[in-house]
Amino acid sequence: MSEQGARRHVRAPADDLRDLHEAADLDLQHAAEGVRDVLGYGVVAVSLLRGTGEYEFVAVVGPPDARDYLLGTHLAGEQLDRAIAAADVHGRVHYVPRGRLPDNGPRWASDAPRTGDPEVWSPDDELFVMFVDQTGSVRGHVAVDHPPGGRVPTVTMRSQLEAYVERMVPVLLHADSLHRSDEQLRIAAQARRVVRSAITRLDESDLLDAAGADLADCLRADEVWFHTEDPRRLLRHPAGAGTDPPSEIVERIRVMADRAWRGQLAVVVEDERVLPEGSGSDGWEEVLGFLHGVGLESMLLVPVGAGVQCLGAVVGVRRSGAAEWSDLEILAAQDLGRDLGSALQTARFFERERGHAAYKQQLIATIAHELKNPLTAVRGNLELLQDEVAEQPAATMLSDRIGRATHRLAVLVDNLLTLSAVDEAADVRDGRSVDLAALVADAVEVVTVQAGQRGVTVSVDAAPGARVRGMPGELEHLVVNLVSNAVKYSDDGGEVAIRVGAEDRDAVLAVTDRGIGIAEEERGRIFGEFFRSANPRARTRPGTGLGLAIAARVVERHGGRIDVQSTLGQGSTFEVRLPLDR
Ligand code: ADP
Repeated sequence: MSEQGARRHVRAPADDLRDLHEAADLDLQHAAEGVRDVLGYGVVAVSLLRGTGEYEFVAVVGPPDARDYLLGTHLAGEQLDRAIAAADVHGRVHYVPRGRLPDNGPRWASDAPRTGDPEVWSPDDELFVMFVDQTGSVRGHVAVDHPPGGRVPTVTMRSQLEAYVERMVPVLLHADSLHRSDEQLRIAAQARRVVRSAITRLDESDLLDAAGADLADCLRADEVWFHTEDPRRLLRHPAGAGTDPPSEIVERIRVMADRAWRGQLAVVVEDERVLPEGSGSDGWEEVLGFLHGVGLESMLLVPVGAGVQCLGAVVGVRRSGAAEWSDLEILAAQDLGRDLGSALQTARFFERERGHAAYKQQLIATIAHELKNPLTAVRGNLELLQDEVAEQPAATMLSDRIGRATHRLAVLVDNLLTLSAVDEAADVRDGRSVDLAALVADAVEVVTVQAGQRGVTVSVDAAPGARVRGMPGELEHLVVNLVSNAVKYSDDGGEVAIRVGAEDRDAVLAVTDRGIGIAEEERGRIFGEFFRSANPRARTRPGTGLGLAIAARVVERHGGRIDVQSTLGQGSTFEVRLPLDR
């Protein structure tokens, strides 16, 4: 195959869509030309009913001035409704004779002469056919002017016009659905952007900032306001320009949002009315009054919430002269209210958690520091006392007890201090290169006495190369903790096996004991702070429930993972994997 033949033109979906649109617009134009060529009308204008309730002229046949005036313009729904109400009706054909509806808004009229003869067509006469779909809903209309012979069309001619438009319906519907899906696509794509940018933000202000600009695009709003409850505030996009609504208006919006959330509706305030009617949006007149006062025309209020709780509202506002809010926009906005609600709730949850965690860490650090000084004083004085009472067995026994209790207290305080230290932000990649095998050797030293007293043997299988980058003090804490736990939770005469080495990209440390084991239901909780087993065999051994919590945080800070495998009554293996330092 030649290179030429192998190369294929790749069409983007957008190309296909554009082609479809062009084809549909051409079909409309041909259909309109048919009315001129077959039935002899000099001007034919085809409109489609938009989601905003307006009729947009999408194809126009006739003299240039008619095309310039009509093509792409919108006819208000009410204007056409008034014409329909005033018209002589033959089927779907409507004829409004001159003078019957003198002030029905702007419309194109030819400069043909006006005569008093009712049989002669006048530029002020109106003739149009409504077109409806299979369900009977109005989807647009076809208006004509310059009838053949310059005479008011007879009933027969009106029937012919109706029949011709009837034949155009499939073409009109096809074009209409393409235009609609276009708007749907635009809104869906932009709504996705809003949600995507919102869900990745865990800070509330960030989230609202990020969503604001995208929302303005999606809703084609000139401004977007966010009203949030708790904290009660109003943010505007773009901030700075325009006028902030006063507190009474914000309060109205709050009440409207609350009602709207309960009814799961979006509320439109425009044009001296509120939609949907009867939505209980008391006070909307004041809101509209404020909008008009600052050059704004209408607003779309979308309640934002999650579950039964209304968290606030998004309000899109449009300036005077902008289009009305379309059905599709209103529907999309309702969905967005729900999506933003869950994003907002998640962000708040995380904010609260962050606040709690920071507070807790602060509290633990403060208490531990405050305990340290008196504890040192107690220990120092106890030593002096023990010298004094060395000859008195009863007093010696009591002071030894105090000594053991004080020692446990000191361990607890040290653990608390370590716990708060490993909570502080630090970039462990700036740490030093540490050899895990060396840490293991040190840890075995630390537990020698304890293991010896209970006849527990500790064996080490160390392969070279298990280097990790991080905080030496923290890593030492981690290793000592796992090794001393293994000894502590072994039975007398038990065995502890430690393996350390490099596997793939990880440095691996595994500490195995044949001790009391951990029940399955407790395995998920042992890494939590202050967790101690309910197992009576574990309870007899001293501990604070902080060792593994510290271990887990150290591992996490160093980008690794810690896992436990255990069988109750048979023993446990704790395995730590940390990224190798190469
Ligand atoms: P503690 O100070 O109580 O040892 P840790 O945080 O180190 O606190 O451990 C939490 C709990 O996990 C312990 O109370 C114990 O029940 C259980 N545990 C830890 N290591 C082992 C082990 N090697 N064998 C059995 N149980 C263990």
